Amino acid sequence: MLQKVLIANRGEIACRVIRACREMGIRSVAVYSEADADSLHALIADEAICVGAGSNSDSYLNLANILMAVQISGAEAVHPGYGYFSERSNFAEALRSLNVGFIGPTAEAIEAMGDKAKAKEAAIRSKCPVVPGSKGPVPSDTDALKVAEEIGYPILLKAVAGGGGRGIRRVDSPTELSGLWKTASAEAQASFGSGEMLVEKLVEHPRHVEIQIIGDQHGNMVYLGERECSIQNLRHQKIVEEAPYSGLPPRVRKAMGEAAVRVAKSVGYTNAGTVEFLVDKDFHYYFLEMNTRLQVEHPITEEITGVDLVKLMLKVANGERLPMKQADVEIKGHSIEARITAQDPDKDFAPSTGCITMWRQPGGKGVRMETHCYAGYSVSPYYDPMLAKIIVTASTRLEAVKKLQTALYEFEVAGIATNIPFLRRLVAHPKYVEGDFHTGFVPAFLQEGHG
Ligand code: ADP
Ligand code: ADP
Ligand code: MG
Repeated sequence: MLQKVLIANRGEIACRVIRACREMGIRSVAVYSEADADSLHALIADEAICVGAGSNSDSYLNLANILMAVQISGAEAVHPGYGYFSERSNFAEALRSLNVGFIGPTAEAIEAMGDKAKAKEAAIRSKCPVVPGSKGPVPSDTDALKVAEEIGYPILLKAVAGGGGRGIRRVDSPTELSGLWKTASAEAQASFGSGEMLVEKLVEHPRHVEIQIIGDQHGNMVYLGERECSIQNLRHQKIVEEAPYSGLPPRVRKAMGEAAVRVAKSVGYTNAGTVEFLVDKDFHYYFLEMNTRLQVEHPITEEITGVDLVKLMLKVANGERLPMKQADVEIKGHSIEARITAQDPDKDFAPSTGCITMWRQPGGKGVRMETHCYAGYSVSPYYDPMLAKIIVTASTRLEAVKKLQTALYEFEVAGIATNIPFLRRLVAHPKYVEGDFHTGFVPAFLQEGHG
């Protein structure tokens, strides 16, 4: 087994990986910024190395400093978490040239799924349905107009290099297209260093449904069911996710799972990954993209399958074979995750920073907390506003919803504003309780004045 692993990330996901290492007898090395010396991840690791000042570009995204920490620590492998270097093929490549393992897919597989255009091509080659749209990037707004005429409005303009819900624009008519094209591609250029855009048909009232896959280095791969992630904010970022999607017909689940494995195998994929789909009201499914990393919402899959995804990632990265076959994968119960963020619902979800003076977190049977925060911890302005994830698990969806409502009722944080009051209202909505929603649910909820 591996002896020492460095975690090139911060916050709750770094804590998650550090704990898995300890349970497996692997020494963990945390990296932290000057602003993060008190973050739980820097405190619970076996070793911790400061990699620079507070801003991401000085520390967690400072390639030279991270590689230096890897070499100083003598770690044999690096877990990238999510965000940061997790989907940068040059990072996996740099580690390979240092003879250090990357706990994830190969640089080539990351590259093959690296942008939305290439990923869609891989899906088409694998006979997996994709959202109708342009074949590859569209060179100009006049070309976009032509594609839009063929597929019909409304359409979405999407940054080829986009991620995290950024770089997406809805266009309802040809008159709007040119203006939106300019702002969208300028924004994409600024955020992702590439202004390339795709044109895609807007799927009306879809569900976001994604398949977790994991493969070993010996050609074996399984899918571990689906996650329903339609509860998204105005920027298409996930807020509440659940597994399984109770309404999904078993034949569609099987078809999507098999399609996800085909797409992943077509690029020689290994380790954990997620294939994202949109599903319409008639259960037609369309490939969206593949995330070549561990996902924020992975715990709900762990809860219903009994698989510890992080431990399995470490094992397959070390050359071990998957311990299960597809027929061994069983889905049991229902799990829901809610993301707790330092965002003020009374101020348009503006980020809130400062010292957490009180932190009273929920507990009880079937309640799991993933967090790096505690009373006395200061939330700095440099990072993603996510403070914690509450994961609840019960035997039925309705019981899980009741458990989530109870957990959110108990959760009290003082000193900074959080989205907890908003989440309480959201998961009490009758449509949410019934499971009757799609990706437009939160925007409509806010428009009704519930926010
Ligand atoms: P998903 O939520 O499906 O995993 P995202 O693209 O929304 O997909 O998740 C990655 C996002 O999480 C990135 O946009 C990044 O800004 C953010 N992120 C990266 N590292 C951390 C961290 N340690 N804690 C909180 N958020 C992070
Ligand atoms: P990102 O890389 O930012 O995660 P995705 O392609 O995964 O981008 O899309 C994020 C979200 O945007 C989806 O979950 C969905 O809510 C919405 N979306 C994306 N493409 C479409 C589409 N063609 N029709 C309708 N909604 C879409
Ligand atoms: Mg996505």
